[in-house]
Amino acid sequence: MTQSQNAPVCNEKINLEGDSTRSVHVGTTRNKAYGALTTPIVQTATYTFRDTAALVDFMEAKTWGDGEFREEYGRYGNPSVQAVEQKLAALDSAEDAVLYASGMNAVTSLLLTVLSSGAHVIMTDDCYRRTRQFCLTYLKRFGIETTVVPMGDYDALEAAIIPKKTRFIISESPTNPYLRVADLEHIVEIARQYRIRTLIDSTFATPVNQRPYEFGIDFVLHSATKYLSGHNDILAGVIAGRADRIKALKDARGVLGGVVDPQNAFLLERGIKTLGLRVRQQNATAQAVAEYLQSHPAIERVWYPGLASHPDHDIAARQMAGFGGVVSFEVAGDLETTSRFIDRMRIPYIAPSLGGVESLIEQPAIMSFYELSTEERLALGMKDNLVRFAIGIEDVDDILNDLEQALSFIPRQRVSVRLVEQLWEQRFRY
Ligand SMILES: *Cc1c(COP(=O)(O)O)cnc(C)c1O
Repeated sequence: MTQSQNAPVCNEKINLEGDSTRSVHVGTTRNKAYGALTTPIVQTATYTFRDTAALVDFMEAKTWGDGEFREEYGRYGNPSVQAVEQKLAALDSAEDAVLYASGMNAVTSLLLTVLSSGAHVIMTDDCYRRTRQFCLTYLKRFGIETTVVPMGDYDALEAAIIPKKTRFIISESPTNPYLRVADLEHIVEIARQYRIRTLIDSTFATPVNQRPYEFGIDFVLHSATKYLSGHNDILAGVIAGRADRIKALKDARGVLGGVVDPQNAFLLERGIKTLGLRVRQQNATAQAVAEYLQSHPAIERVWYPGLASHPDHDIAARQMAGFGGVVSFEVAGDLETTSRFIDRMRIPYIAPSLGGVESLIEQPAIMSFYELSTEERLALGMKDNLVRFAIGIEDVDDILNDLEQALSFIPRQRVSVRLVEQLWEQRFRY
């Protein structure tokens, strides 16, 4: 962790090795005037100068001589935002971090900043739908081509490289919704050979479970909307990495404009302080849920990297400290049976998103992929009976009991694929 000269002070007497200690203390600034414990919300759009000489001093040194945070305008920086950036950099063991208005704003700002016309990008499949959409449609308009390769196929990844044109490899880990885990060492090894930059969307892992920067990944991205803020009440995004690269992104943010509001920075900072507690409980509950579902006769398949049956269990066990709070599974039934099961669940809300204190549940076929045909969905690997369960911090026994009662109506025999398709077609007649 490096801190810039005019970084806000943290309590240097505290050992900052543990993630919860870092979450609570790094970056958090005390208000000099009142001695308030928490970082003040500096709700201002611009900053003022005493006189022209002070302005000239600022232009020369970017400080007003007292070592304190100074900026000239809100789009270029804000102390409430900077405090969170330092916390997040420390959590990912990176040199610095840059905060954005949303996770998507972080992805798009990064790629617009580092890529030029004629560049080529490789991304792994089973990824956040809007990221893929941005690469395949928006970047394409600027003459940037994207190749999508199957997650986990490192030969395909290497074969897709166009020497001197491929600039970026983008992957999520774990992925959405199948929780595939990228072999970070392998990706870094391939990328370095061809001098390609790497981005890992680590949203599902959080820095508590996985720190891609320690494996040599160049840019680590989180939708802070999810676990980092943790309360389903704000949107934000962050990228952590090497100081000079993050500086370039901050400069670009001053042009592209995707700043996070100081009020939201405050809420995010407050949320991050309990990250370790929340995520460790979510890991434990998710593991219990995955094991319970795996042995349930009304469930066809469970996708959770903490299960030995998951294709990436070994990689996950090697590079993660915990397996995360999302469990995906296939109900032994069709689209409507699956919907009925979801409607019978009492604790989780039906909603997209994940990582907050409230459990959320969704059927991707109806939520994120609603407007696609069954064929298009299957081409993206989305089955009608797939459920994504994003576990909150409710008590594990309550969640297991809820699953038990909600699954109890499902007959134990399997429904044929043909019937599933027929029912799907009928769905839109009503
Ligand atoms: C939610 C999410 C995003 C987008 O983040 P927003 O904050 O919603 O813009 C990107 N990647 C992953 C893996 C996500 O879950």
